[in-house]
This record gives sequence, structure tokens and C-alpha cells, in this order.
Amino acid sequence: MEFYEVEPTLDNYWRAIILFGRNVASYKFALAKSLYELNSVPNDLVKMEQLAEPFSRHLCEHLQHSPKQITSKSSSFLSACSDYNQGSLNKDQMIDQTVKLGFNNVIDAFHVVNNNEIAQRFFIDERKTNGGIRITDNFFKLAEHEQFDSFNNETEARWRLVEQGWKLGVSRSLIRVEYDRTLETLFTSDKKRRVDITSCRDSFNGYQKGRCFYCYSPISILSGDDNLADVDHFLPWTLCEQLPNVNGVWNLVLACKECNRGEGGKFAKVPTLLLLKRLHKRNEYFINSHLPLRETLIQQTGKDEPKRKYFLQNVYNRAKTLLIHQWEPEIKGIITF
Ligand SMILES: [Zn+2]
Repeated sequence: MEFYEVEPTLDNYWRAIILFGRNVASYKFALAKSLYELNSVPNDLVKMEQLAEPFSRHLCEHLQHSPKQITSKSSSFLSACSDYNQGSLNKDQMIDQTVKLGFNNVIDAFHVVNNNEIAQRFFIDERKTNGGIRITDNFFKLAEHEQFDSFNNETEARWRLVEQGWKLGVSRSLIRVEYDRTLETLFTSDKKRRVDITSCRDSFNGYQKGRCFYCYSPISILSGDDNLADVDHFLPWTLCEQLPNVNGVWNLVLACKECNRGEGGKFAKVPTLLLLKRLHKRNEYFINSHLPLRETLIQQTGKDEPKRKYFLQNVYNRAKTLLIHQWEPEIKGIITF
């Protein structure tokens, strides 16, 4: 079996927007929920006035149980929503205010995932030319998807998780978020915390020989050194609820700071197929060299090489269809493995 590339489907793109979009405000959820409703509207040009009704309605509803809908201190649009909830603004005034203030950031930001525009668009911004947004064929195709009805629930669930995170005031990375494929829902639990993994530098460096796993630039495993290696999750830790045992040895490598979190670093992108092959080779090396990691790796990924390849290909497909963006750095040192 050879490794192969997988292409994200439209529903992968859509879920990436809902699951992995940057959340500084809940507007993206309100817009998604509005688009689900407008799907039954035959015209593909949706005027801002038309969009404003469901958009503000969803936000007003959520404000009633969760006053925090934005990470910044205040928003004139959310103040208007609160005024509407308290009865000091009528429905028409609310829609006026929404058209003026409600869409400033969300239309532009909607298709941004992990700081990059995704390759597929579900609407085109025609506010300047036609006073609205034009729904694309992608969205209509998405609407025919067998799971389309569940998207509304998923979006609502995700919205509530983000609200819960803001309420608790904890970092998003500490909130346990899971996608239940059977129920097609996301759920949370605060039992689990990120496992401390910094102690495995010594074991990994034997293979990497003081080189970054991705770019081969020199790294150190001595604390206090400027170029101290980062222990990095090959498939991003952000998928800890979607992939099996993301904190497992099979998924950990040593990386230079530049690759892990520098400008142009990996962050929550998925390494390319070339790098996946390199990871497989690394894991086989550990298994065949009978290092102490052997048993751990076999337990985590499979008892023979075809099974382990199959495991890696599966988690890679899952990671790429969830996170969309790929990453590979320039080579900056001697290729030593
Ligand atoms: Zn590097």
C-alpha cells in the first residue's frame, strides 16, 4: 500500500469554517445559521436587509442566555441587540442597526480558517455592487448533502461550546471538544487536560540527531539553550478530540521553534505527504531498532508495517479533511534522516 493524497469535500470545508474558524465573536455562527434558513429562498442574491433578520434574531436569542458574544469589551451592534431584547428597539430598528453594524467583520472573515482563506467559497461579497451576498453553487450543493440538516445542530453546539469557554474564561485549547459521528453533535467535558510531553526530547533526538524534523536546522535538547527543541505534535494537537491518541509517541517529533511557532510555522496546519512518509520512516526506525519506544508504537499504531501505514493514512486523511491547510518548510540544513 502506498500513501495517497486526499482532497477535502465541500462539507469538510464547511465544517472547517464552523469548527476551526477563529472565534473572536460568535457572528460566524449566526451567519451560518442564517444561511441554513435562507437556503429555501430561491434567489441566490441575498440582500443585507434579508440577511439581517435571521442574523440578528439568532444573536438576540443567544444574548439572552449568554451575555458574552465577543472577546473584545464592547460592540455597538451587540448593544443594539440588547436594546432590542429589553424592548427599547423595535424589530425594524433592529434590522436597520444590523445592516449598518452587524456585518462589518463577519462577511470578510467567514471563509478564513487557521488564518488563511479556504479554497472554496459559499458566498461572494457583493455588498458594494448589489447590496448583498451572492450564494454560490457550493452552498447549494452543500444543501443537498445528506448531513445538511445536522449542520444546524452542529453549528448551534459549537456556538454553545465557544460561549461556555468564554463564560469559564479559559483558553480554548483546554476545552474538550468532540464530534460525535453517530449523533452528529459536538460535546465538551472539562475532565481532560493536555498531557505534559516535554520529557521525551532525549528519546527522539537519537533519531533526529540534533536536527529539526521538518527543516533539518540545528536544534538542542538542553534546557536553557536558545535553540531548545519544541516537542511538536505532527498532526496538530487541536485534533486531540478527532484523532486517536494525538499525544502518543507516534505523533510526536522534535521541531525548531521556527517550524513549530515561528513566522510561517506549522501551527494547526497538516504536514504534507512527504513529511508523513518521513514520520512513518521514523516510527519504523524506532520499532525496528528495538528502542524502548517499540512497544508503545506498536500498541498505538499496529502490529505490522501494513497496519501501521493504514493507521497513519487514516489519521492523515482525517486531519487534512478537518484542517484543510497543508504545510511544508524549506530545507535549512543537511538531510540526515
Ligand atoms: Zn524546523
